Amino acid sequence: MVPLREGIFRLPSGPDEEPALIGSRCQNCGDHFFPKRYICLSCGQEGIEETALGGRGKIWTYTVARQTAPGSLMQAPYVIVVVQLAEGAMVQAVLADCDPEAVHVGMDVEMVLEKMGTSAEGNDLMAFKFKLV
Ligand SMILES: [Zn+2]
Repeated sequence: MVPLREGIFRLPSGPDEEPALIGSRCQNCGDHFFPKRYICLSCGQEGIEETALGGRGKIWTYTVARQTAPGSLMQAPYVIVVVQLAEGAMVQAVLADCDPEAVHVGMDVEMVLEKMGTSAEGNDLMAFKFKLV
């Protein structure tokens, strides 16, 4: 398995390990961000450190995509969510395997990895999504 995009999440190194999002934590004010960044959006601290973010949170807002662009890996309709992680960071992603009419703000979700294709070398290309808990 290889990530579809590098620097976004960590693949689990074994069956007992959870995948993690790669974000940042400000040493000055303690706020978390995703994706990782160099300057804190809350207090302006520079050089904030990379940290692993757990994949659990709540739907902060969402929209239903009812059309897809040509060549898209997704099939409409599907749900795009903004999740507020337990650490406070906001993450936008697709909500996997759900009825769009059943989704509500505040629902608990967790990150999952999903195969999106195969690389030229034959590796599974993985992306992260969220699913309802
Ligand atoms: Zn800060």
